[in-house]
Amino acid sequence: MPSRDRHHRRPIIAANWKMHKTGADAGAFFAELIQALGNEPRHFAVVAPPFTAIAAAVEAARDLPDFAIAGQNCDWRASGAFTGEVSAPMLAAAGCGYVIIGHSERRQFFGETDESVNRRIRAALDAGLVALVCVGETLAEREAGQTEAVLTRQFERGFHGFSSEEMLHCVLAYEPVWAIGTGRTATPEMAQQAHAVLRGLAHQLGGGEVAHHLRILYGGSVKPDNLTGLLAQPDIDGGLVGGASLDANTFAKLLRS
Ligand code: PEP
Repeated sequence: MPSRDRHHRRPIIAANWKMHKTGADAGAFFAELIQALGNEPRHFAVVAPPFTAIAAAVEAARDLPDFAIAGQNCDWRASGAFTGEVSAPMLAAAGCGYVIIGHSERRQFFGETDESVNRRIRAALDAGLVALVCVGETLAEREAGQTEAVLTRQFERGFHGFSSEEMLHCVLAYEPVWAIGTGRTATPEMAQQAHAVLRGLAHQLGGGEVAHHLRILYGGSVKPDNLTGLLAQPDIDGGLVGGASLDANTFAKLLRS
């Protein structure tokens, strides 16, 4: 059961299903999740299914309080001749409240840059979505001592031109690339160090209120047995979870950590 007294930053546990699950799978997941959750206290939940399962997830989560459905990405244009793309207003119309932006797999495999991340955040906010913005260093960058420089570049370029008010409609996720899908989690202390850097950047760019309220989630091989230690850190406000979010009972455990 959530134990921390952190009224100003209620933790969020976000599930990133990546390219897994059909609409029917989503329905089955939510039936199992609702059963597992009961009425016990838990963290705020976000689930990001593939686009084709969003409608089923929205329908299945309709009566769940403190729950939002997210897109895994959005284009920065509202509509047009861009085959294969999905826009932020389309996600909002489909019932999403959030959208993940700049996930490292998008940066690594689909050519996303800090500049396109910046445009996507703008599109998300214009559509009334919360932008869940991912940043994080690769193993080579960490070993070269560049972690802070990489986070600073991604943060400053990603949020370039946004007001404090707009930044308050965003959630940040620190995801060290070397910890995603690898079973290697950053220790709570390592993660806290990076989160403190990011909160400092939020202060510099957005001011005290943004630094105080901005939720910074940790992502990278989060599991029920390591989440509690991560959440005990002062600047870790939840988790962005890939693999461990695919099983409803495991996700329920994370929501109650
Ligand atoms: C992710 O998809 O953002 C992620 C952190 O994946 P995993 O939990 O599987 O490492």
